[in-house]
Amino acid sequence: MPLGALRRRLRRRLRPLQGVRHFCEKTGARWFAKGANLKVRSLACGGVSSPLLVVGTVALDSVETPYGKASDVLGGSATYFAAGASFFAPVRLVGVVGDDFPMEKLSFLRRRGVDLAGIEVVPGGKTFRWAGRYHLDLNHRDTLGTWLNVLETFQPKLPDEWRDTPYVFLANIDPVLQRQVLDQVKTPKLTVADTMNFWIGSVRPELVKTLARVDALIVNDEEARQLAGVPNLVRAAGIIRQMGPRTVIVKKGEHGALLFHEGKVFSAPAYPLEDVFDPTGAGDTFAGGFYGYLAKQGKADEATLRNAVLYGSALASFCVERFGPDRLVDLTLKEIEERVQAFRDLVRVS
Ligand code: AMP
Repeated sequence: MPLGALRRRLRRRLRPLQGVRHFCEKTGARWFAKGANLKVRSLACGGVSSPLLVVGTVALDSVETPYGKASDVLGGSATYFAAGASFFAPVRLVGVVGDDFPMEKLSFLRRRGVDLAGIEVVPGGKTFRWAGRYHLDLNHRDTLGTWLNVLETFQPKLPDEWRDTPYVFLANIDPVLQRQVLDQVKTPKLTVADTMNFWIGSVRPELVKTLARVDALIVNDEEARQLAGVPNLVRAAGIIRQMGPRTVIVKKGEHGALLFHEGKVFSAPAYPLEDVFDPTGAGDTFAGGFYGYLAKQGKADEATLRNAVLYGSALASFCVERFGPDRLVDLTLKEIEERVQAFRDLVRVS
């Protein structure tokens, strides 16, 4: 069907909803949203996408890589996740910042249809800050500082109409806060979590309680080893699956990602890039692409999960091309699709 006719047909079907019209400047995606049972029709992304809720950090980062240094750049697990997921599904972001946070830094997310109504701004509060330095190989980094600030007293409160969001992502944040969000959602179709060494080391028992309540976990290789207490990644994934999540995804930086699901393993390569500028947020962006794709498909069977890993890997490969989330601002769905195809070509043997 020609695009114009499709648009007219969608407009006719959506008119009675009296909702809010969303439009993505970058991808051309349009959707119409109303109340609790939001259904989304995105022309550019194709098909019908359900909303996706994320709780995580919205941060100001100070980052050093072999290529440069920057202070107070936009960061945070929820920020990068939303940047990736918003190509596929409407994202509802729950987080907290202080009144020192320049909200205009998030305008690219708003333009892409991310609902920021769940961000609390604490008067007189200071935004969460993180500082890190990457080694020459860019696969390893040292955390130079983590300043929780407004995160220390944050109590996430979901807008009522967000409580029946079907897809919930618990991005990297205090596992107690992750559970507080789980307590507020009614009957999510799928819950996926992320975490990092900071929380595994400092509040492990709380993290274990959260893991018992999620369907899937996304971690990097070091975190998987730390969490499971064994060096072998296959064994580590098995141990983590016994903690609760049926599906475990292990990111391995420039070595790709492993998906453990129902006793099977799928391995995706990383895209061989000549210029990697700043890996910050690549993991969260991977999660955004991965989960956004699942939300768009509305299922999480083996084949969909495998494709989702490719979409996550494609998004992450763009993220590292520039400092902070810069590359994700002007990225288009067409570029993403081309890179997913390049991923498929990478492992094709004939
Ligand atoms: P990634 O490179 O994907 O691991 O994510 C980097 C992002 O995570 C940065 O933008 C940080 O602001 C954020 N971050 C760093 N430490 C933490 C933490 N302990 N909890 C939540 N987010 C964090």
